[in-house]
Amino acid sequence: MGDTKVEILTPRDVPLGGPRAMTVRRTLPQRARTLIGAWCFADHYGPDPVAASGGMDVAPHPHIGLQTVSWLFSGEIEHRDSLGSHAAVRPGEINLMTGGHGIAHSEVSTPDTTVLHGVQLWVALPDAHRDTPRDFTHHAPRPVRVDGAELRVFLGTLAGDTSPVPAFTPLLGAEVLLDPGATVTLAVDPEFEHGLLVDEGDVTLEGTALRPAELGYTAPGRAALTLANTSPHRARAVLLGGPPFGEEIVMWWNFIARTDAEIRRAREDWAAASDRFGAVAGYPGDRLPAPELPTTPLKPRRNPG
Ligand code: MN
Repeated sequence: MGDTKVEILTPRDVPLGGPRAMTVRRTLPQRARTLIGAWCFADHYGPDPVAASGGMDVAPHPHIGLQTVSWLFSGEIEHRDSLGSHAAVRPGEINLMTGGHGIAHSEVSTPDTTVLHGVQLWVALPDAHRDTPRDFTHHAPRPVRVDGAELRVFLGTLAGDTSPVPAFTPLLGAEVLLDPGATVTLAVDPEFEHGLLVDEGDVTLEGTALRPAELGYTAPGRAALTLANTSPHRARAVLLGGPPFGEEIVMWWNFIARTDAEIRRAREDWAAASDRFGAVAGYPGDRLPAPELPTTPLKPRRNPG
């Protein structure tokens, strides 16, 4: 049994790319924690009135060594990628894109979207699978009702429901809607560490209060997690989990690798419009150029302790 406290990870505001730069709240990675299981990136945004924020407009950009998970609470995003996928990302439906050896995609909120609200998550691929071919999967989980909550399990297993979406490491990803005043205890895998990202409401995790946009972390060793909504309104959170990811990773821009040299190679390949990433058809504009790399070598990150 490890540390029994709930660690609170607070978000920082980050402007997303694009001419009208919408702002997101990022809880992973941060100094105190790089990963929760293989989850290595957590951006939370909205509810933003698109008329004020400009919405989302992220031009074609590359990824390697990771999967992206888009999960919306409201609004709609048009996804295009270099596999030729052209998909509508809608609330309550997982869109999982596998970067692997290389992919490129664009994400634009649709003209009909008035309020954009959701999360963008990344999953680090383990060394044995990080060069896997690019892929794109969509799934709409059916809502599962337990006493006091409604769950949508988009990855892994929770409350007897299992997502059919395959993963390269054991993972949990689920939206949790807590009834007003409800306390819910969910059985979880004791080998997993977990993160509860609160979207709205007054939520406690194992008795620790979390504010909206905070991520509460629990170490492996718990067979159940107790969530409570202390407010008279519905509360919403996203529960993430997985066994601790034992590998060091090097993260830079949209790339996850193991060495500085691999990152530099990926940047050159993107700059050269290499077949490694392919082309995104149908985006009305230029692709995103990669930023400059630091002159000093990028250092690997891992979790403390
Ligand atoms: Mn992306």
